[in-house]
Amino acid sequence: MKIREVISVLEAFAAPQLQEVYDNCGLLTGDASWVCRGVLCTLDVTEAVLKEALDNNCNMVVAHHPIIFKGLKKLTGKTYVERIVIAAIKADIAIYAIHTNLDNIIHGVNGRIAQKLNLQHITTLQPKKEILRKLITYAPTDKANEVVEALFRAGAGYIGNYSECSFTSEGVGTFKAEAGANPYIGDMGKRHYEPETKIEVVYPFYQEAHILNALIASHPYEEVAYDLFSMENSYSNIGTGIIGELKEAIAAEDLLKTLKSTFNCGIIRHTKLSGKPVKKIAVCGGAGSFLISTALQQQADFYITSDIKYHEFFDADEKMILADIGHYESEQFTIDLLYDLLLQKFTTFAVLKTKVSTNPVHYF
Ligand SMILES: [Zn+2]
Repeated sequence: MKIREVISVLEAFAAPQLQEVYDNCGLLTGDASWVCRGVLCTLDVTEAVLKEALDNNCNMVVAHHPIIFKGLKKLTGKTYVERIVIAAIKADIAIYAIHTNLDNIIHGVNGRIAQKLNLQHITTLQPKKEILRKLITYAPTDKANEVVEALFRAGAGYIGNYSECSFTSEGVGTFKAEAGANPYIGDMGKRHYEPETKIEVVYPFYQEAHILNALIASHPYEEVAYDLFSMENSYSNIGTGIIGELKEAIAAEDLLKTLKSTFNCGIIRHTKLSGKPVKKIAVCGGAGSFLISTALQQQADFYITSDIKYHEFFDADEKMILADIGHYESEQFTIDLLYDLLLQKFTTFAVLKTKVSTNPVHYF
């Protein structure tokens, strides 16, 4: 099994095209053609994590945070980033980062947090726009079903919690085969009338090449007619943060207690408790102050995130409780997410979770 195959599984789950523009996801050191001897899953790559990988014969580290985030201009070992990159290269360890692309899918970082809190009816807090595209194509009616099936298998037709979404309508197509053509049906040089089915499906932009390949491969015509459209709709499966509901409203103090024990928080910084029970909960693992106004608009009772600055606490405007549970604490279950994903796909090499706590923050 090659490192490349591990990367394929990770990227089928969280497409690298979904990372934010400032991010640096993907293979950061090493070579995708190496044979994978073992994978260590972690939130951060530290020198201790690299040592743990070596001690356990893992030559791949899958991390949430990219150790190379900004451009590196020197590799002299002066900073911890330089030392880790040098050590990984010397030891032939492939480091792969799956960061904001994992934040931007509903079953990613935030999906895990929602699962830990048993949130119901979850949906993306801030869905992304310009993700969806639409394909319209026309197939001879007796072959239309095969084309639709192939498009579904390639990943088209997902809307929210529904798969296999499509629309078909019947009509008649015309064509005349000119010199050099090799028509599937009809005579050369004569206009042909064919009962055709118009097929419409949506898909996320990053699957376009795959979906067009499936269309061409499944369609009987020599020249396949199709139209591609960009859509303005936001896509509820892709975006930042999650909002969902607790099974029943509880006291905010009780939610804080649950958070403190479940996420093993040294401290939780939060805004004033109003005494009103909380039910609608917004979540964003890692630095999430950019979603405070969205959580308010969505009428969240309580917003769980981290890295909130003093003035940002005021932004909750006493309309919702804002809680900073710590960056590492909020994202720690991402390690389980990566581990579970890889463990169910690979059995020929070890998939491990780091035992190192990489949290650089301690509480006194
Ligand atoms: Zn983070």
